[in-house]
Amino acid sequence: MKVVLQNLTKTYPNRNKKAPGQVVAVNDFTMEIPDGKLIGLLGPSGCGKSTTLNLLSGLQKPTSGKIFFGEDDVTDLPPENRGVGLVFQNYALYPHLTVKQNITFPLENRKGADKLTKQQMLEKATAAAKLVQIEELMDRKPNELSGGQQQRVAIARALVKMPRILLLDEPLSNLDARLRLQTREELRRIQRETGITTIFVTHDQEEAMSISDLIVVMNAGVIQQIGEPQQVYDNPSNLFVAKFLGTPPINVFSGTIQNGMLYIGRDAVLPCKGLADQPVTVGIRPEGFQLCEDGPLCCSLKGVEVMGRDISVVSTHTACQSQTIRSIIRAENAVDTSLTTVRFSLNPKKVFLFHGETGNRLQFAQE
Ligand code: ADP
Ligand code: MG
Repeated sequence: MKVVLQNLTKTYPNRNKKAPGQVVAVNDFTMEIPDGKLIGLLGPSGCGKSTTLNLLSGLQKPTSGKIFFGEDDVTDLPPENRGVGLVFQNYALYPHLTVKQNITFPLENRKGADKLTKQQMLEKATAAAKLVQIEELMDRKPNELSGGQQQRVAIARALVKMPRILLLDEPLSNLDARLRLQTREELRRIQRETGITTIFVTHDQEEAMSISDLIVVMNAGVIQQIGEPQQVYDNPSNLFVAKFLGTPPINVFSGTIQNGMLYIGRDAVLPCKGLADQPVTVGIRPEGFQLCEDGPLCCSLKGVEVMGRDISVVSTHTACQSQTIRSIIRAENAVDTSLTTVRFSLNPKKVFLFHGETGNRLQFAQE
């Protein structure tokens, strides 16, 4: 089912007596979510992700704007009539019910023509349990399950009604690292198998990048960029997005454009055509540095960290905005750690320029 969010805004009264006014949790959010896709809604804590999800589920009403599921305007529909499945970070299972009873719970209160027999409910619950691979746990209580198993029960419960839309709010945050990795792949598989349009909220960029068809990067209630994960990584539209995606994070420098040349400090690092002389913020991805004896960017070498396939060269530069520069180099390149300086040439595809004040991306040509 296609989902359209049209100029959605949600404001809350601000309870801070010293700074009265409104908190704009979601600010003029407009997007069309294609049918059958998995969307990763991504941003730092407090940026409005949960509020956006709650507007979709109907748990909260927008201050203004509209929501459509397919052609249906659902803006004023209560949650139970929207056909959404919800999964939260804390599982929210009923502790006194078995797994089976937890999963069938959303089917119990159906009335009239929708009413199901016990047998039908069991069949649906078994199908949902199979999908998340917990059939053998049906008679246990939640406290007899691991965190990962509990979250699977919560997902099965959300799927049992065959919802039109599946909404997941940080569903993996309570799981340990290994289980988080495994469960996110499971989620991807379940989404593919069911074809249910899914919106997945996370603050973890790697998680969103790895399983989403499209990511939506949010900051302070405002959409920053929408696109396929790789495309957003390769083409961030502003400094916020560039900094939010990627581990290790992008390296940020203060730079200047002078006569078609980009300078970082006194180093003339790249020809940049088509830009007027101005101060700029320069972002360089860790993989954009190449060791090069006569490379233009001259840094102070602080150390080398071995990461197996790659090594991470840690260095400093007076124009760098963070304490250290991290560059990722293939392990077969030996770095002489007795030296105090290291020189790099830069891959122009991995160098992004941003307006010094607005942080908006500035396009440049090499030639
Ligand atoms: P996220 O899920 O991205 O961490 P939220 O959507 O929960 O962010 O919150 C967005 C903003 O709205 C935050 O500044 C938060 O403090 C504020 N907020 C959320 N819920 C309420 C509420 N019920 N009353 C007042 N402010 C709220
Ligand atoms: Mg949240």
